[in-house]
Amino acid sequence: MKTVLVFATNNQHKVDEIKFVIGTRFEIITMKEAGIDMDIPEPHDTLQANALEKAKAIHQLLHQNCFSEDSGLEVTELKGEPGVLSARYAGDEKSPAKNVEKLLENLKGKADRSARFRTVISLILDDKEFSFEGVCEGTITDEPRGHEGFGYDPVFVPDGSNKTFAEMTMKEKTLYSHRRKATDQFILFLQSYGKN
Ligand code: IMP
Repeated sequence: MKTVLVFATNNQHKVDEIKFVIGTRFEIITMKEAGIDMDIPEPHDTLQANALEKAKAIHQLLHQNCFSEDSGLEVTELKGEPGVLSARYAGDEKSPAKNVEKLLENLKGKADRSARFRTVISLILDDKEFSFEGVCEGTITDEPRGHEGFGYDPVFVPDGSNKTFAEMTMKEKTLYSHRRKATDQFILFLQSYGKN
């Protein structure tokens, strides 16, 4: 029987990207499909702690195998900001357009535009906790480009490409993305653990 995992997120982009990588290997159930309608808090100052908090919140409710992920953009000139605060960089309304605007404003005139996306996936499997990480190095553009994806995708060009993530199809973004790299680790672990 296929392994069933509840994905503790309300972000449909994350669901689409992770399902794209996992394919039909495992059965991924969203919070919505599990009948849970709640905004899980992210009170901690590391991706790791926030990811675990989200997975634990859903595990406590459902007592089922589940996972979550927390991601952030770390900009070198901004000493790793927005990092864990990526979603709320320009305020609690979590506006992607305002976040991008604030980022470009803070980087105006800076020579070093290097940055990286980092994803931590936290898994609770058979009541035990595991985590996996993926990093994608790249640079921040001067202006937003493209309309695909979400968040900071219009201003992030991964190393090895000249397109922003927002100018890529999901298949192309998957070649480079932090989320795909963390998901690869996650899949390898589940397979080595005897889950399929
Ligand atoms: P969280 O993981 O739900 O806390 O949200 C992280 C925030 O980081 C998102 O709201 C986006 O602003 C940003 N982010 C994370 N992953 C990506 C990505 O793949 N592309 C663009 N922005 C991302």
